[in-house]
Amino acid sequence: MTRRFWVFLEQTSGVLHPVAGELLGVACRLTTEIADELEEAGEEAIVEGVLVGHEVTDLAQQAMQFGAARVYVVDNPSCKHYLNRPYTEVLTTLVRKYKPEVFLIGATTLGRDLAGAVATSLGTGLTADCTRLEMGTARKSPKKLLLATRPAFGGNVIATIVCDDRQPQMATVRPRVFDMPPCATQVSGEVIHETVEITPDMLAAEVVEVIADEASRVDIEYADVIVSGGKGLGNPEGFQLIKELADELGGVVGASRAAVDGGWISYPHQVGQTGKTVRPKLYIAAGISGAIQHKVGMQDSDFILAINSDPNAPIFEVATVGIVGDLYDVIPTMIETLRARKGAAA
Ligand code: FAD
Repeated sequence: MTRRFWVFLEQTSGVLHPVAGELLGVACRLTTEIADELEEAGEEAIVEGVLVGHEVTDLAQQAMQFGAARVYVVDNPSCKHYLNRPYTEVLTTLVRKYKPEVFLIGATTLGRDLAGAVATSLGTGLTADCTRLEMGTARKSPKKLLLATRPAFGGNVIATIVCDDRQPQMATVRPRVFDMPPCATQVSGEVIHETVEITPDMLAAEVVEVIADEASRVDIEYADVIVSGGKGLGNPEGFQLIKELADELGGVVGASRAAVDGGWISYPHQVGQTGKTVRPKLYIAAGISGAIQHKVGMQDSDFILAINSDPNAPIFEVATVGIVGDLYDVIPTMIETLRARKGAAA
């Protein structure tokens, strides 16, 4: 018997979303966690990707570089742009045919929309926004199950959720929660072309044109440097100073939810439990207290610099370096110093 671990290979305009690579890395790890069971039962486990779109077959190779041993491709002009119904039809049809045990989908805007519809159509469970995934024993199941862990009750409880009586066990994971696995240069794998009929009634909406909006240009998840501002800025104009520092460092602007809720900056900049998960090389938190819901979104950054006037602010618990002081004194000095250094180097 083959135990299948599936990953949805999200793509937009022929570009594979990095979260697909991250999830393939996770799926490969999960299969190693059942190695003992496989050996005992004489079974095998395989990591497979599902790619839906139009003229996207080339992306299968990329998926194989991140660990997919097989990629199912559904190439259909009706799937060129994402629409919930046709994509749901494709995935549910393939799941019914191949019966994967685990199905992972990125918790992107597209993935969130799709995963719920697929799980509902299949009558299975879905754990959204997982922060940890592992295979383990639970509920007297003879086989290891997917243990999907995520924050619950506003981040105050960490819950591990098991779907023990339905298949596939589905989970979504936000981009950047897991590391990108190493990318192999030489790969071999199998591409299987599948056809799924998309009927006109599934195409109630027609995508006429795709226009990138401001939100899609704010790509903080994969930025190397993020300078984030919070309520401590005192007013929306404070974000000009944050932007100035971000520009000097070649970074982008992030924010706490309090700043977003205050209407000081748009939601795509929000870092945290209900915003984005980030892990840049440098994260600067200015005027952010460090509530648990903010920390879960940035605490895996390589280097965290916190600037806060309150020496007891919880943000200092996760900071690599902390500066206790008024951000309106500290940040202009940083900008000045950076400019002076650049001037001296020129
Ligand atoms: P505050 O908590 O008000 O902190 C402001 C900080 O600025 C203080 O520490 C203060 O000492 C400091 N300060 C003030 N003036 C200055 C100055 N001049 N110089 C330097 N420092 C100064 N929050 C998120 O960020 N992201 C999320 O995704 C998120 N999701 C949530 C989900 C749920 C279900 C819930 C319940 C809450 C969520 N929150 C989230 C909100 C979170 O609990 C906090 O309320 C929020 O993070 C606080 O934002 P803040 O640190 O900017 O503001």
